[in-house]
Amino acid sequence: MSQKVRIDGVKHAGASVFLGVDHCGNPCWTRNPERIMVWLCDGWRTRFNQRREQRPHDIPVKDETGEIIDWLKEPLGGPDVPKLVLDREARLRCSWMAAVPSPILASTNKVESSEWFAGLKRKKTIGGRIPGFKSRHRGLGFVCWRNASRSGNAIFHKTGRKSGVVVITGMNPKRWVKPGEKAHWRIIVHVRVGQEMRPYTSVHVDWTHRTLVYVNMPLPLPRTGDGVIGLDRGCVHTLALSDGTFMDMPKPSKAELKRLKYLQRKMARQDRTNEARGGGTAKFASKRRRKTLSEFNALQGYIVRRRNDWIEKTTTTLAKADILIAMEDLDVQAMTKRPKPRPDPDNPGRHLYNGAKAKAGLDRSILSSNLSRLMKRLQDKMNANGGKPVIVPAAYTSQACHKCGHVAKGNRESQAVFHCVECGYEANADVNAAKNILDRALSETGGGTA
Ligand SMILES: [Zn+2]
Repeated sequence: MSQKVRIDGVKHAGASVFLGVDHCGNPCWTRNPERIMVWLCDGWRTRFNQRREQRPHDIPVKDETGEIIDWLKEPLGGPDVPKLVLDREARLRCSWMAAVPSPILASTNKVESSEWFAGLKRKKTIGGRIPGFKSRHRGLGFVCWRNASRSGNAIFHKTGRKSGVVVITGMNPKRWVKPGEKAHWRIIVHVRVGQEMRPYTSVHVDWTHRTLVYVNMPLPLPRTGDGVIGLDRGCVHTLALSDGTFMDMPKPSKAELKRLKYLQRKMARQDRTNEARGGGTAKFASKRRRKTLSEFNALQGYIVRRRNDWIEKTTTTLAKADILIAMEDLDVQAMTKRPKPRPDPDNPGRHLYNGAKAKAGLDRSILSSNLSRLMKRLQDKMNANGGKPVIVPAAYTSQACHKCGHVAKGNRESQAVFHCVECGYEANADVNAAKNILDRALSETGGGTA
């Protein structure tokens, strides 16, 4: 869990901060807090990219005719990229990283690896490229571990009813202490505080949007009931519960989808215009194009935040009220199967995609990624407050009769209605499946009497 606060300003205290050696070999120091923040973001991003450079990716090996005969693993940064395993080595190589506090450099290790594996998983399920490098055009920011030790780092102090500071401390290396000054410096980030601060493990600074996020350990939710319930993903509703109720994830309205599509087309048109004028890449996008993009992102963000809010609220309600929740094993890969791209006969090395089918796959994959997010949040919350989330295999839960157990394809009268061909039991198809899932979980855990 995390808490996001706004950054009101930054101040610098102590010694001048060593920024590095410039191209003439002269050391640079600064006392400008804005400059120091940008330098911290740059240092963090570089260390992140240095770690990313070492990740392997596949390189095709071609024979004389240009045909691919084999695949070779190579680091993302190329065959000759230096291996900088330790932060110490990175500091020695890049003088401008020498004074970046170690909780900032060290955090790249975990952040890079979790983003890398999340990207690979995304690539496998919804497609896309392998994760690449961080660019400063996509926003400045850094992560800093909270370090409560002797020197202390990213420590929060309350300064008023609704204000506080996060202090990041650093030290210039002995070689680069400015003559006549001490080595230690501090960056004091002033933040607005809305709610009670909870213990946290690290802070994420988003310098582009001037926000700061505390990443904290989740508090267990108070338990209000000890129900047992089965969940099934419905075809009409997002979730069907074994007690016969339904839950719906908010979807973007027709007007919102229309607006998104309109903005997307507008951006494409502006891109063509810019290209004709010699702009080309997004880096040189026009002011109008940037405006369209920010409107697009705002609307998209609104839709995503509304959905995530629903996920959080729903999982909280469920985790509070129930002691056992049975869920189906989500086979994300099967759900999001896309038509395989076929090789383009006219254009060797390129592939043809079926547009409409690929899009349908993408829509489904967005739904399934939301469902897996929901399941993950539910599992986290239940594990924290002593509940028991149970995952059961999905096979035949939708075809089996809850009353007599008869399994037949013909039981599904339509997508929504379940009608048993053996005993005549009639119910909503998703509720019937949810009940089967619950039964399966209860017999698995030995709680069949409940
Ligand atoms: Zn039956």
